[in-house]
Amino acid sequence: MTQRFEFELHGTDDRARTGTIKTPRGDIRTPAFMPVGTAATVKAMMPESVRATGADILLGNTYHLMLRPTAERIAKLGGLHKFMNWERPILTDSGGFQVMSLADLRKLTEEGVTFRSHIDGSKHMLSPERSMEIQRLLGSDIVMCFDECPALPADRARIKESMELSMRWAARSREAFGDRPGHALFGIQQGGLEQDFREESAEALRAIGFEGYAVGGLAVGEGQEAMFGCLDYAPEQLPVDRPRYLMGVGKPDDIVGAVERGIDMFDCVLPSRSGRTGQAFTRRGVVNIKNARHQEDPRPLDEACSCPCCSNYSRAYLHHVFKAQEMISGMLLTWHNLHYYQELMAGLHGAIAAGDLAAFVRGFHATRADGDIEPV
Ligand SMILES: [Zn+2]
Repeated sequence: MTQRFEFELHGTDDRARTGTIKTPRGDIRTPAFMPVGTAATVKAMMPESVRATGADILLGNTYHLMLRPTAERIAKLGGLHKFMNWERPILTDSGGFQVMSLADLRKLTEEGVTFRSHIDGSKHMLSPERSMEIQRLLGSDIVMCFDECPALPADRARIKESMELSMRWAARSREAFGDRPGHALFGIQQGGLEQDFREESAEALRAIGFEGYAVGGLAVGEGQEAMFGCLDYAPEQLPVDRPRYLMGVGKPDDIVGAVERGIDMFDCVLPSRSGRTGQAFTRRGVVNIKNARHQEDPRPLDEACSCPCCSNYSRAYLHHVFKAQEMISGMLLTWHNLHYYQELMAGLHGAIAAGDLAAFVRGFHATRADGDIEPV
């Protein structure tokens, strides 16, 4: 097994790519979907079950872990992999995005952000240096630069100011990260929906140099059309020989469209969160298990799915345990949803490798357009 962090590109189909990210903790097949393990757990799933769905890597959230149980405590207990019983790669975000969306009384300066915890009101500070320290204490394999991202829509002056601050913070993140063989630091491109700012940001990041690059600041309410518009140029502004990560995306059709536009990595809470609210993602679109049409339906969610939920349980059972608020409801639907996402990624790998992505994407949209099976 490699002792270094490397990215091997195996094949391309138009702008889409398939490859392998090699790390000392294991390979990550790309395009990759990373389930979100916010508080050192993918909610409702055992780590071995997450692996069984086909996940090569998980995402952990710096903001949540620094507040509870704290990065220092996790380090003392042997790091995040050991703490949560996941030996494969982990990517951690920088905490910046969640400070902006969750914390109270935020104050942003050149140095960083001070804020109060949404849990107990205690006062904390995040800066590029502190974010790098926390992610090192956690033992993260892929570390994200500390950045700032304005909510869209924002005016050009605000987007430019924010992007330039993030680029200064990217340089400080690189410096603070230091030399850590086998670990990677990813830069984050900002610039909103402004093509010239995206290019400036990409230039600044390339000059610093990173092991991978994220397209940041999307999936913040701009809509799919605007996001795809940005992805028509943003990924190609980043180095071709490094992984490209679209943060916080997304729905299955967002992922397919982004893979077509050259993205290699994704994370999103959607499959796990939806699993807990009675929503299942299937080849035929979203199924709401709480709907009364399922109450006497003996068929599985998706008869073509090989996950334990679809192999062993009926829609009628899933409807019942959701209505009865039984824990197994969230467990089964989360397992199915994560399995569906990983099967989608596997389908994309195969199609790109075969040079057949356009046909795969046509089939993906056609099956969804058919809609759910007829009620019994
Ligand atoms: Zn299933």
